[in-house]
Amino acid sequence: MTTVLERPITFDSVRVTVAAIEDLSPHLRRVTFVAPRLADVVPAGPDQRIKVLLSPPNGSELTLPSGPDWYAEWCATPEDERFVMRTYTIRAVRPEVAELDVEFVLHGVNGPASAWVSAAEIGDEIGLIVPFEVDTTSTKGLLQSGVDYVPPATSRKRILVADETALPALAAILEELPATVHATVFVQVPDPRDIRALPTAGTVDLTWITPAGDGPKSLPEALKSATLPYDADYAWVAGESSMIKTVRRHLVDSAGLSKQCISFQGYWKRGEAQV
Ligand SMILES: Cc1cc2nc3c(=O)[nH]c(=O)nc-3n(C[C@H](O)[C@H](O)[C@H](O)COP(=O)(O)OP(=O)(O)OC[C@H]3O[C@@H](n4cnc5c(N)ncnc54)[C@H](O)[C@@H]3O)c2cc1C
Repeated sequence: MTTVLERPITFDSVRVTVAAIEDLSPHLRRVTFVAPRLADVVPAGPDQRIKVLLSPPNGSELTLPSGPDWYAEWCATPEDERFVMRTYTIRAVRPEVAELDVEFVLHGVNGPASAWVSAAEIGDEIGLIVPFEVDTTSTKGLLQSGVDYVPPATSRKRILVADETALPALAAILEELPATVHATVFVQVPDPRDIRALPTAGTVDLTWITPAGDGPKSLPEALKSATLPYDADYAWVAGESSMIKTVRRHLVDSAGLSKQCISFQGYWKRGEAQV
């Protein structure tokens, strides 16, 4: 049932300071941000998307957006003068210490976010746009709150597909997977050393795809060569744009899932900058 929200979802910008940096693996760096207002952040789900705001390319100071028209104003500002904005996932929040973790893929210095995190130091300041009030009892609220992983309450067999950019979201999804749910999971990472433990209470069949070894070299190949559960009732697919489309087609054509049961999200597009 869809409940109409009684109060609006509130996203707001916050200036945050880097409190800790941890390299989880060669291509994933966890950054812990701290700011008093982070104590009030309320993620609506495990794949909660947020915005990372960096100084404009022309080197001027980062001014946080405010007011109802900030996005239209941002769009109207020349690219060199406006702050850089990229989408990331809340990996964890610790309200008691006003901290929030984001796990960044290190994909080189050709993108401002990856370049920033490659050189980040404790004490650096950036901006975030994060959720402060979300009605998590409302389907409408969930759909509008930057959460795409919304399995039906009856779902017991799920297929989860992620590349390295969606690994932080996947890790959080698995962390809160109930013991009653079975998940068939495929994850692609750029290096075998990026493979890591993904704790869960659920029953999970996990396949890692890496450039090493004789196995499949891409997520679509891995899914095509796997025996998928015939009775999966929900799928979540996130990662590179062309990958997610191929995987979705395969899930519909060969695994019998209806399009309505698949949440698929393009997290990045090869050769293109993404806001
Ligand atoms: C809902 C959502 C949640 C996301 N969560 C996360 C997250 O938690 N962690 C995370 O790391 N990313 C996440 N992403 C992906 C991230 O927004 C993109 O990777 C983004 O392009 C990074 O910005 P950039 O400034 O580094 O590169 P951009 O300026 O956007 O792109 C520059 C170049 O880098 C390429 N590029 C971008 N990402 C990659 C990559 N991973 N590998 C190789 N080349 C790449 C682009 O194709 C482009 O050619 C998420 C995206 C969405 C939509």
